[in-house]
Amino acid sequence: MKPNPLESLDHVVRDALGQLAAIDDLADLNGAEASLIGRRSAFTSLQKSLGALAPEDRARAGAALQEARRRVEDAFEERRRVLDSGAWERRMREDRLDLGDVIAERVVWSPRAGHPGLVAITQRELEDVFVAMGFSVAEGPEVESDWYNFEALNIPPAHPARGMWDTFYVEMGEPETVVLRTHTSPTQIHLMEEALASGTLPIHSVMPGRCYRRDTPDARHLAAFHQVEGLVVDRGIAFADLAGVIETFTRAYFGDDIEARLRPAYFPFTEPSAEFEITCTICRGAGCRTCSQTGWIELGGCGMLDPAVFEAVGLDPEVWSGFAFGFGIDRCAQMRHQIADMRALTENDVRFLEQFS
Ligand SMILES: [Zn+2]
Repeated sequence: MKPNPLESLDHVVRDALGQLAAIDDLADLNGAEASLIGRRSAFTSLQKSLGALAPEDRARAGAALQEARRRVEDAFEERRRVLDSGAWERRMREDRLDLGDVIAERVVWSPRAGHPGLVAITQRELEDVFVAMGFSVAEGPEVESDWYNFEALNIPPAHPARGMWDTFYVEMGEPETVVLRTHTSPTQIHLMEEALASGTLPIHSVMPGRCYRRDTPDARHLAAFHQVEGLVVDRGIAFADLAGVIETFTRAYFGDDIEARLRPAYFPFTEPSAEFEITCTICRGAGCRTCSQTGWIELGGCGMLDPAVFEAVGLDPEVWSGFAFGFGIDRCAQMRHQIADMRALTENDVRFLEQFS
């Protein structure tokens, strides 16, 4: 009797199924395909050995071999399906973890350090410039009596200059009229009174702070805005001292290519008075829409202290002289950073605010 080449067939199948079960990685499975069911497999060599069988046995043996091979091929495909879906699930799980990290990083709010707004930054920079020039920094109340806001500054009740300030009134009349200060100038009066009472004259101070006017907000005006006031009270102060301070400040804050100039103006509490203008920071003096083609931008007002103001606080104008100046901090920030619309300063748009950290 001829040896049956398919004697080992059961063993080959069991061996192949055992190997398949031990493979737990798709790449390993693909690598084993040739040796398990492909041309290097036991099935291929058994197929060749069938030629030695008698023709009547060959068909039956061939069918048995095909049946065994199909069992292993089915098991192979099933294993591939299992490993493939496992890999897919693992990939999904890993992707989901990545997504989790993204959510933690981007969506969950973590504390972020803030920073002062542009107006506060500008105020500090201005204070630094003036402190370097020998000025001290003082503050005054934002709610003022009519006397400090108007009368002591040579603006009596019927004075037409009151029309220059659209005022927020807190209380009218008795016992006294109280307003939200329309300018930082009343702080001058407080400083002079305190210096007189405490014997600390002379005064070289700047007074930054918030002011209020009933302006409808637009690109160049806010109803609540910021000014910085300057006050010098000393002996023998001349207009040239005022002009020098304005010029020195302008170059120190805006840069050497920005000039200041004074033009005659009227304010009730200074005489003579001037508006001070600086070279337009947008066009550098060439002329543009912002400066109405003049090359100059008005920044503030200034002048020599009116004797009536000295008398209002009890200082002798024959002994003391001095000057005052004031300008908008918001306007300074607008000019220096070329902000088209001043309302951006109060709209709390983080995209705007972040630019000035
Ligand atoms: Zn210009």
